[in-house]
Amino acid sequence: MALDADWTRRWIALVADRIAERKAELSHLDRDIGDGDHGENLDRGFTAVRSRLADLDADATPGAILKLVATTLISTVGGASGPLYGTAFLKAAMAAGDAATLDDDLVAVLAAARDGIVARGKAEPGDKTMVDAWTPAVDAAAAAPDAVAALAAAADAAEAGAKATEPLVARKGRASYLGERAIGHRDPGSESTALILRAAADA
Ligand code: ADP
Ligand code: MG
Ligand code: MG
Repeated sequence: MALDADWTRRWIALVADRIAERKAELSHLDRDIGDGDHGENLDRGFTAVRSRLADLDADATPGAILKLVATTLISTVGGASGPLYGTAFLKAAMAAGDAATLDDDLVAVLAAARDGIVARGKAEPGDKTMVDAWTPAVDAAAAAPDAVAALAAAADAAEAGAKATEPLVARKGRASYLGERAIGHRDPGSESTALILRAAADA
């Protein structure tokens, strides 16, 4: 299977579908330790992405698609997650360049996304943010034998990483204002990252 432009479009469409389905759940997580808007923020962004993707040239490369996702998220998603995911998709687009498929560059693309989030948000692993899903995902992808296995391994690791945020105290973002009261709650951004990477594996 090639991770070509059709795959990239299927991936992003699946993300948009699943965010719409799980919007309330993501916002509920954010209500527990934030301001309750994470699902709405991402749904607004990916709804705009879906409509702009339909107008993109039929022969757009994976990199051009990822760049459109980035610019759309930056301009439509309020809150912390907009610039963070926007930067992730922008750096991923830069790593993809004008290649027709992402197979050979998949680990570099995922690592670039994660590095973009870290550069922008300055969170470290263990700070109870989306970085806690991205970092094990990139590590698992790097250890996988091929691109398809890497996507599955990244999704599994991101889901485990999201779950592992539950016992943590947050050191970045709104949840950091809660101190120990954040303990026992899953970070919403780590959960949306797991959703995005599971969609990549399923696409
Ligand atoms: P806001 O907190 O502005 O309402 P969202 O609710 O959309 O924005 O996104 C919150 C998520 O953003 C958190 O769950 C966390 O995963 C992520 N986040 C917040 N700050 C940072 C940061 N500095 N670095 C990485 N991720 C962060
Ligand atoms: Mg929020
Ligand atoms: Mg907010």
